[in-house]
Amino acid sequence: MRVETRLAARLQKINPSSTLAITSKAKKLKAEGKDIVSLAAGEPDFDTPDFIKEAAIQAIRSGFTKYTPTTGTPDLKKLISEKFKKDNAIDYAPEQIVVSCGAKHSIFNILMVLVGKGDEVLIPCPYWVSYPEMVNLCEGTPRFIKTSLENNFKITAKDLEKYAGVKAKVLILNSPSNPCGCVYTVEELKDIAPVCVEKKIYVISDEIYEKIIFDNQRHVSIASLNPDIYDLTTTVNGVSKSYSMTGWRIGYLGAPKDIAEAISRLQDHSTSCPSSISQKATTCALSAPDEFARNMCQEFQKRRDYLVDRLSKIKKIGFVLPKGAFYIFCNISKTKLDSLTFTNRLLEEAGVVAIPGDGFGKDDYVRLSFATSIEQLQKAMDRLEEWLVKI
Ligand code: PMP
Repeated sequence: MRVETRLAARLQKINPSSTLAITSKAKKLKAEGKDIVSLAAGEPDFDTPDFIKEAAIQAIRSGFTKYTPTTGTPDLKKLISEKFKKDNAIDYAPEQIVVSCGAKHSIFNILMVLVGKGDEVLIPCPYWVSYPEMVNLCEGTPRFIKTSLENNFKITAKDLEKYAGVKAKVLILNSPSNPCGCVYTVEELKDIAPVCVEKKIYVISDEIYEKIIFDNQRHVSIASLNPDIYDLTTTVNGVSKSYSMTGWRIGYLGAPKDIAEAISRLQDHSTSCPSSISQKATTCALSAPDEFARNMCQEFQKRRDYLVDRLSKIKKIGFVLPKGAFYIFCNISKTKLDSLTFTNRLLEEAGVVAIPGDGFGKDDYVRLSFATSIEQLQKAMDRLEEWLVKI
């Protein structure tokens, strides 16, 4: 007789990913020979540049295949420290930097060292699907901050004040954001920061889409504003999006020294160092000029403009103009369908994959990704337009 599995209680609150459900259904249909167009990608559709691959091959050949220090090699941490100074105007000494297995891992590590039972983590809604689940895993309580379409789904000081009670310990900010591509300006961050300082709320600033930013906007890191907010902020970044290196699994953070030390201890006893080979590749990526990211960003902007042009002609769909990242978050309330029904029907009846908004906290929205070619976008828009007339 099979013994019943008794999972730990912490797993019971964790939802399966709605993204995975729709993408595996799409895979199945594709395998059956159906012509499927996917606007589901969560990663750039560009290959990792060859010079970065070469650095990894060289690392393997030269035997750089053993453990490194837990928080990353001194060379890489020095480069990251310089990157933070140059791009973000933040001073993080190498000992304040921890390299991990992706930005997701970095965020999880911060939550693990800051959040426990009874602590609230404030998350502006819509949000990246993994934030609340990671908070749940740490036994904290996610509290969603309501935002409005009029303010491009960004929070203001007033919004934050409403949620900043005694239990609020951490705020997660994501700019440019997934799923709506919103970008916080320096003025908006200057509005929010004093509330965090006054209420002693830590900030996790997820800046993974930093290099994918449109319309000559400038990316601003909240930690750069003043010493008070710097002391509360951990800045997260990585190479997944900016160098199209999602599979290499390298992310990093800069934090006040005591937080970085706590994360280092946690990583000592959980994952140890990230892959030595990927660290070499990242060292190579960060030593090179930003050209790759700039070219990729230009291409993303062309695609965004194309999608925006097409979507603005479709009356049943509303959207927020993305200022960064590679997603458009579309309002589908005029179709009277919830996001799961919408995406399932769109896939079955028109062969287009979109991600339901419910996992991002908005069941009347779907996320379209433009990390695919203009030809595919055109095909998807033709199909969407035609399908919407029928339903
Ligand atoms: N933050 C956001 C907002 C993301 O969209 C993603 C990737 N989907 C990550 C973090 C994780 O990036 P990484 O691949 O470096 O773990």
